[in-house]
Amino acid sequence: MELRISGLVNDSIVDGPGFRFVVFVQGCPHHCEGCHNPQTHDFEGGTTTTTEEIMVKIKRNPLLKGITLSGGEPFCQCAPLAELARMVKKQGLSVMAYSGYTIEQLLQRAKTEESVRALLLNCDILVDGPFIKEQRDISLRFRGSKNQRIIDPVASLKKGVAVEREF
Ligand code: SF4
Repeated sequence: MELRISGLVNDSIVDGPGFRFVVFVQGCPHHCEGCHNPQTHDFEGGTTTTTEEIMVKIKRNPLLKGITLSGGEPFCQCAPLAELARMVKKQGLSVMAYSGYTIEQLLQRAKTEESVRALLLNCDILVDGPFIKEQRDISLRFRGSKNQRIIDPVASLKKGVAVEREF
């Protein structure tokens, strides 16, 4: 399945726990002030690739603990990312995702958008919410601002409310 990306990183240690393959998707509607990746905002920018091509690259790295979907806004390309997440989990790897949407907004979307639900169901960790400059805190692990929570997406779907977790 095709998706639009800004870039790929083979072995990051700054985008989640352990060695992670990072997919920076292209396109973001949030335009947070102070965003570190403004080059990822344009929905026409970046390049296109496929989930199959990304999977080949992931399988080449035996050290990976999982993948991280970052952005850009991963929840603007839910269908291909849900497919990728499913394939990654079959390999025994974990899936972490960032979103500028809050889990409450995503749970609402999941009621009518099957691909949103599918992506949430195939993520182990979600860091939710936009980057808020006034709440920036460099001491936070893998997060930019204090409003962003570490969410268990599957438990949140089951309960219909935000369920937080640890990394
Ligand atoms: S959601 Fe992320 S990529 Fe999008 S503008 Fe905010 S910080 Fe930047």
